[in-house]
Amino acid sequence: MSGRGRPRRSGRPKEVIVIAGEDRNDRESLRILLEKRYPELRGSIVQIGDPVRLHKATGTNLTKRVRAILNKAEGVAEKQGPGTRVACLYVHEDFDAVDGPDYAAVHRRVAQEIHRQSGRGHYVLAVVEMEAWMLLFPDALPHVVKAWKVPAKYLRRDTGRLPDPKSILMRDVSGTRGRRYTESDAPDVFRVIVEQGHLDSPQGTNSSWTRFWRDVELCGREHFRT
Ligand SMILES: [Zn+2]
Repeated sequence: MSGRGRPRRSGRPKEVIVIAGEDRNDRESLRILLEKRYPELRGSIVQIGDPVRLHKATGTNLTKRVRAILNKAEGVAEKQGPGTRVACLYVHEDFDAVDGPDYAAVHRRVAQEIHRQSGRGHYVLAVVEMEAWMLLFPDALPHVVKAWKVPAKYLRRDTGRLPDPKSILMRDVSGTRGRRYTESDAPDVFRVIVEQGHLDSPQGTNSSWTRFWRDVELCGREHFRT
């Protein structure tokens, strides 16, 4: 890791990537993944922890809630220095339900609203929750806590269809020999996944994981490098 950001004439970034999401561990995990793909973003990612309740919202409610997040993102950017703009906004939320036709419809509805209002944003709606992404990397988990082991029945699965990935991690993966997984382990898990080179070889599938990376690629092409 170089630790170097993009060249900054004033010493401050003139554009920032904003990550919105209620859960600090989830935001931090996204930051780790983004910085792995684009090391030049180091020091240019800021976070907002305001409520994100978009997946059940429709119509005027959805419009207002997206607007509130965008306004907050612009305010946070401005605090980085006058004239700092939001290069792109990532909005994280857990779907809290398994993958299926509803997921695609909900994602489309919210993503279209974000796009309509800003043009530069991505809706990271994890199925069922971000812990499902960790189950794609069974080889990384023992590097966080040695005794953690993903049972065979959860290997090479569509992890977006496992109803309760968090309790799989707390119960089945943690077992009785190691300490139990808690939500605050999430950033460490993703740090191990990226640092030990597992990122490009997920074992299993999860449509929200695939979609996230498609968005990240598009982002690099069209948003913060333009
Ligand atoms: Zn983007």
